[in-house]
Amino acid sequence: MQSISRRRFIQQSGVAAGISIAAQHADSAAHKIPQVDPHEITRLRTQLKGQLVALGDSDYEQARRVFYWNPRTEQKPLVVVQCGHEDDAARAVEFARTHALEVAVRSGGHSHLAWSSSSGVVIDLSPLKEMTIDPKQRTVRAQAGVFSGEVARAAGPFGLAPVLGQCPGVSATGVTLGGGLGWLAGLHGAGCDNLVSARLVTADAVAREVNEQTDSELFWGLRGAGANFGVTTSFTANLHEIDTILGGEVHYSPRDARAVLQGFREIMYSAPDAFQATLNLTPGERGLFFSFCHAGSEAEAGQMLQSIRSIAKPTKEAVRRQSFAQLAEKAAATTSGKGPAPAFREVQTVRRDRITDEVIEVIVDQLAQATPDVVMGLSHYMHGKVCRISPEATAFPHRQAHSVYLRMAHNWSDPQSSEQRFAWSEQWRELLRPQENEAIYANYQTYDTKVGSPSLFAQNYARLMKLKQQHDPDNFFHRNANIAPPKA
Ligand SMILES: Cc1cc2nc3c(=O)[nH]c(=O)nc-3n(C[C@H](O)[C@H](O)[C@H](O)COP(=O)(O)OP(=O)(O)OC[C@H]3O[C@@H](n4cnc5c(N)ncnc54)[C@H](O)[C@@H]3O)c2cc1C
Repeated sequence: MQSISRRRFIQQSGVAAGISIAAQHADSAAHKIPQVDPHEITRLRTQLKGQLVALGDSDYEQARRVFYWNPRTEQKPLVVVQCGHEDDAARAVEFARTHALEVAVRSGGHSHLAWSSSSGVVIDLSPLKEMTIDPKQRTVRAQAGVFSGEVARAAGPFGLAPVLGQCPGVSATGVTLGGGLGWLAGLHGAGCDNLVSARLVTADAVAREVNEQTDSELFWGLRGAGANFGVTTSFTANLHEIDTILGGEVHYSPRDARAVLQGFREIMYSAPDAFQATLNLTPGERGLFFSFCHAGSEAEAGQMLQSIRSIAKPTKEAVRRQSFAQLAEKAAATTSGKGPAPAFREVQTVRRDRITDEVIEVIVDQLAQATPDVVMGLSHYMHGKVCRISPEATAFPHRQAHSVYLRMAHNWSDPQSSEQRFAWSEQWRELLRPQENEAIYANYQTYDTKVGSPSLFAQNYARLMKLKQQHDPDNFFHRNANIAPPKA
């Protein structure tokens, strides 16, 4: 693996047909705010059941900001429509269409490339918080603003658990539309495998219920490429019976990074379906921490814990038998929650087919050079049920056993250091991204490959192109892991 120059990176990620990531950066840098007659904005405001925030309003700065905010992802939307009802999403789609404005859809605001902000209209669904648990059917119906952690908390008292991601603050809808890899993937597949139905406002501003019965092809596309077809205002998903789980964190010293990485690889290689883990590595006080969830028998859980403890000398431990909701509500490693939020955040993610010795050596080396705010991670080691489901069964194709996601998140507050920060994170990515068979998971896209969109959807790409052509031929919904023509 070799690092490549910044110039070559820029050439590789050059403008594809459709809207490329590079083009999005260029747009945001220019911050050209489109001109629309203020009366039209006032008219939209009066049509809404929720709120409209426009440039100049006192809450504009807060309304435009999302989680991974930095000088490259920053956007200045003309209006943010904070939906009070699904009808507001339809009105916002009409408004954006009439005035030829770029549209972004937001639920939890956790997109890695800040796709949920735009230069034109932001359709912000985060105020839509209704949720119903049906314990008989073992399903949840949730509006788009409901977070993953909130579903786990509501389902818990019924002895049920949702199949969502590991971050409580990510929208349950947002994570499911892109795939949805979490603690229960080995037992119950991805979030998208558990989707039953979704309410969708399409590019023609019409709302419809999409499921296997009403439109099986569109339903297939929603499960993994979902942001491409419209605004999902609510969804129904399966829940699963989960008794208490054994979970928590075992910490180690950064000095033991190599042994811990090797141990993580060994444990995950033969992990039972009921087990999932994430290894986080920080150069600072928090050290390395092996976070895990075991949702099986107590005997097997005890054996797994023993294996985790034996890979290096633990420096501290916070492991206990607990409800699934208690674990699912724990803040993600990259959201420390202490002190004021940093001004800027960025993340890089790459997918690897295997944790090779070379990958381990690069991570050990990079950790030694990292600033204290850096959190690297290995997560969503693919095994169990999620890999036994056919890659063509849903639009989410990346189900290869033993593949894994590598992540590097960092934050800073001094704008002067931004370019240096980006240079460091890009070299981290270039050192670790694979030279061949490069694949990108829609929920974790942080860069573009040489071929572009086919890397996101693999064998499902051609079928998705057809579906996109049918439902959104103008690529109106493009601030997402986009179904676009391949790069030349
Ligand atoms: C700290 C952190 C931890 C994470 N952990 C996991 C994890 O464990 N597993 C995993 O699979 N992913 C994980 N992710 C990735 C996350 O699932 C994706 O970023 C997801 O797209 C976020 O959804 P959101 O609604 O919160 O974000 P947003 O920024 O609001 O949206 C993200 C994308 O989805 C589109 N979108 C959002 N809502 C809708 C909607 N209702 N209708 C149509 N399109 C919509 C947006 O337009 C945008 O393109 C994590 C992200 C973060 C920041």
